[in-house]
Amino acid sequence: MKSKQNVIILGSTGSIGTSALEVLESNSDKFTVKYLSTNTRVDLLLEQAKKFQPEGIIITDEKAYNELKLSNLPFKIYSRTDLTKIIVEEDIDVVVAAMVGFAGLESTLEAAKSGKKIALANKETLVAAGHIITKLAQKSGAIIIPIDSEHSAILQCLVGEQREQVRKIILTASGGPFLNRDFEDFHNITIEEALRHPNWKMGNKITIDSATMMNKGLEVIEAHWLFGLPKDQIEVIIHPQSIIHSMVEFVDGSIKAQLGIPDMKLPIQYALSYPERFPVSYSTMDFIKYSQLTFQKPDLNKFKCLELAYRSLELGGSYPVVLNSANEVAVQKFLDNEIKFTQIPEIIEDALEKFGTSKEPDVDEIFEFDAKVREYFQKSNKVIYGIS
Ligand code: MG
Repeated sequence: MKSKQNVIILGSTGSIGTSALEVLESNSDKFTVKYLSTNTRVDLLLEQAKKFQPEGIIITDEKAYNELKLSNLPFKIYSRTDLTKIIVEEDIDVVVAAMVGFAGLESTLEAAKSGKKIALANKETLVAAGHIITKLAQKSGAIIIPIDSEHSAILQCLVGEQREQVRKIILTASGGPFLNRDFEDFHNITIEEALRHPNWKMGNKITIDSATMMNKGLEVIEAHWLFGLPKDQIEVIIHPQSIIHSMVEFVDGSIKAQLGIPDMKLPIQYALSYPERFPVSYSTMDFIKYSQLTFQKPDLNKFKCLELAYRSLELGGSYPVVLNSANEVAVQKFLDNEIKFTQIPEIIEDALEKFGTSKEPDVDEIFEFDAKVREYFQKSNKVIYGIS
């Protein structure tokens, strides 16, 4: 093995990307940051590039790329169309897939095809194309290591165990900011309230997903593909303190849990160090401070998005793709103040009924379903949802 691993971070300016850079900085004897990418946050990208001196940077937004491409900088500047080539042809060992949403699918597919180690934060790609990505990875020898804290926890619990001796996995959920809010009052939820997550500091999209609990729904589907378990063996339990990151129950009734403070740097580092562990200098968990760990059952009427995700996983076919795309549309509309919080699941259910099919889509069809869902809500939202 090489003494230093070359890393590309897809989405280095987001919440996971910036934390990944912190982890890489503390482990600069083991990793070289070779490429960094952003969609539109060019200023931050340039700041990162100045510090980490990568070989090149990628700007996926066409307009932002065109504005910068002729600048005289000490590293190469690439566009979205160069991304595939870089992943496949350049000397890269680890792809940190930290782009947000469906936009990350193309590059994750390439990484899976080319046999790289993928540190995957972009759960939406597994939701939309888990059946394809897992097959590609199997064929090429690519390893997918989850960065999602719950899935990192499950992976850590599974080390040294036999998969057929797993009875079920238990994904923990904080319950988000509205766990204790009356459902009757959900229509009054504001953007600011939804963006105030009690435990985790994250990007806007995932923070809204946590508030609706769609995040946990996407994670159920993600777990299905990562660990090869059916829906009935994936349980969700509310654990408001977010100290137990998830658990695995085995056939003999024994349960293993992984615990830690809620800081994404831990699962990010584990994805990079796997199967080893690197020491850290920051403070770890103080049990006395967290003397009470509590649990409750999720309310699927209140958090309908979670129920819709379970339903989509069961129905299979194109349902998870449609679920994911419709959710992205709905979250954006909520953030743009176009719809109410309670309309997020309505939009998703509407899309599932309209576009869901039982046939498993191939790559082209996945992109077609995504485009159809987005187009439908662009054209019809005024009529259906009374948006002015
Ligand atoms: Mg998570």
